[in-house]
Amino acid sequence: MEKGTPAIGWAARDDSGLLSPYSFSRRVPKDDDVTIKVLFCGICHTDLHIAKNEWGNALYPIVPGHEIVGIVTDVGPGVKSFKAGDTVGVGYFLDSCRSCDTCSKGYENYCPTLVLTSNGVDYDGATTQGGFSDVLVVNQDYVLRVPESLSLAGAAPLLCAGVTVYSPMMQYGLNAPGKHLGVVGLGGLGHMAVKFGKAFGMTVTVISSSPRKREEALERLGADAFLVSRDAEQMKVTFLCPLH
Ligand SMILES: [Zn+2]
Ligand SMILES: [Zn+2]
Repeated sequence: MEKGTPAIGWAARDDSGLLSPYSFSRRVPKDDDVTIKVLFCGICHTDLHIAKNEWGNALYPIVPGHEIVGIVTDVGPGVKSFKAGDTVGVGYFLDSCRSCDTCSKGYENYCPTLVLTSNGVDYDGATTQGGFSDVLVVNQDYVLRVPESLSLAGAAPLLCAGVTVYSPMMQYGLNAPGKHLGVVGLGGLGHMAVKFGKAFGMTVTVISSSPRKREEALERLGADAFLVSRDAEQMKVTFLCPLH
């Protein structure tokens, strides 16, 4: 029998939160598969939940990671969109049924038989191992092109944290210059919202319970205004006049 691609990753083997080296095999590439050498992978809080079995569904040993950026090393004969050397990304899921109602509308993330990139079950029954590893084999339809002009390490978190913010902003028409955006909380998702908002030409106000976030919001991320949510006076004045 043909052997799969050898891979090495960092796996959680129990709920201690510790990861250790883990050797395994990626599937034998199919005609429409892309083989990717992983260069960077973000750490999403979901990875921590899975590693520590906080949701009770960890499929140990499990390699976390679903904010993956890498370079294509090989493509199957049926792959038309990618070639060796391309810079690419893989996000939270790497396959879906393609025929259900949501798949046919382009909302594959709602597919009832979605295959998650890590801690999922692939259509061949194998547990999916994520991007804290050196190589990935993914169907071409679930691979994204990443512009080489981006910082590749910086681009990795766009694959989950980024799209989580970007998608609703686009869905609800927030990508319009001149609109005002309030971002409550400046964490992994909030800082993305500030950057997207500024890129869309919006006026962005960050609302945080922590005054320590002021410099990061205004200086580093370019927000227009900053409010401390625990300061009742600030919030009251702001309610009347948002940017003064
Ligand atoms: Zn995530
Ligand atoms: Zn589907």
